[in-house]
Amino acid sequence: MANPSLLILPGDGIGPEVMAEVKKIIDWYGDKRGLRFDVSEDLVGGAAYDAHGTPLADATMAKAQEVDAVLLGAVGGPKYDKLDFSVKPERGLLRLRKEMDLFSNLRPAQCFDALADFSSLKKEVVAGLDIMIVRELTSGVYFGEPRGIFTEGNERVGINTQRYTESEIARVARSAFELARRRGNKVCSMEKANVMESGILWREVVQKVHDEEYPDVELSHMYADAGAMQLCRWPKQFDVIVTDNLFGDLLSDAAAMLTGSLGMLPSASLGAPMANGRPKALYEPVHGSAPDIAGQGKANPIACILSFAMALRYSFDQGAEADRLEKAVEKVLADGVRTADLMGPEGGKPVSTAEMGNAVVAALDASL
Ligand code: NAD
Repeated sequence: MANPSLLILPGDGIGPEVMAEVKKIIDWYGDKRGLRFDVSEDLVGGAAYDAHGTPLADATMAKAQEVDAVLLGAVGGPKYDKLDFSVKPERGLLRLRKEMDLFSNLRPAQCFDALADFSSLKKEVVAGLDIMIVRELTSGVYFGEPRGIFTEGNERVGINTQRYTESEIARVARSAFELARRRGNKVCSMEKANVMESGILWREVVQKVHDEEYPDVELSHMYADAGAMQLCRWPKQFDVIVTDNLFGDLLSDAAAMLTGSLGMLPSASLGAPMANGRPKALYEPVHGSAPDIAGQGKANPIACILSFAMALRYSFDQGAEADRLEKAVEKVLADGVRTADLMGPEGGKPVSTAEMGNAVVAALDASL
């Protein structure tokens, strides 16, 4: 059988630096676990603009549509700030998300014990936290029509439209229920059914998908504002949260910060299943290209490494190997290995990007 295929798009700034560490891990899986990938690499963002005058060449887009998973580093940087909007580095990423129709955005909020002190919340509230926010990514108020700034009488009015079809709600609900079955088997759906018709429909459709297809999964509903409070009060009550584009944008950022540094946060964006049953998928760290530290060997590669762990779990059916990689990261942190962004007030000597990657590889070796 052919090896699973992976397209790597390192991008700009710290993207190539953190991706170099992931490549060590991909090689480790080939050498030590016989888990080989057909890896190809291409340009995205500013790097693609420099080479081709566009932030994502058509040939790269076509490749992304064919592979089993895409792993992206980061795009953007001050060098490109003055470019026309249509060729800005971020447009490359948006094109990937749009043309692959990645409607389900997975943002885990996981707190490694060794970093529990980093959270702005009390240690006992966040230690051991492991929740997953599933945000609808391709519809809702960011896309609904009509939209614009219009003139009514003698003043202007800004309009955006929250719009969801039943099928858009159903497919992201299925994605959340499938995930829950691989985790704690619990989904909490968040909307504002008390004041929004789109929220009423959201609640009805999620309940229907549950009753007809996933009755084994525990389902609850919560108003999104109450959900925000509960996330800060006692986040460990949640397993999977499913919500729309706007509320998901806010709730996933809030949940992410429960866990500390931006350098630790992975994400996945999934689309419809392909012919081989795997979902279209793009994995990427939440952080950007960090121009302030690019080229200095200071970047934390863990967000990108954990994004690859998500690929192992959700695209390649290698849940046990994903666990192994996450445990290796946990061990490295427990051993006190820290990049600069993870240094506490007690200080110490930070390790470089490459040293952090090497430490994870050593922990993987130790896991055998
Ligand atoms: P950023 O995420 O790049 O950086 C914010 C802060 O976090 C910086 O101080 C940075 O040094 C730090 N940081 C980020 N990742 C880190 C890591 N792995 N290790 C250590 N520290 C890290 O956000 P920004 O500064 O607002 O944006 C910089 C550029 O990145 C902009 O061009 C922006 O458009 C782009 N951006 C891209 C993406 C993406 O590719 N998905 C996401 C956000 C921003």
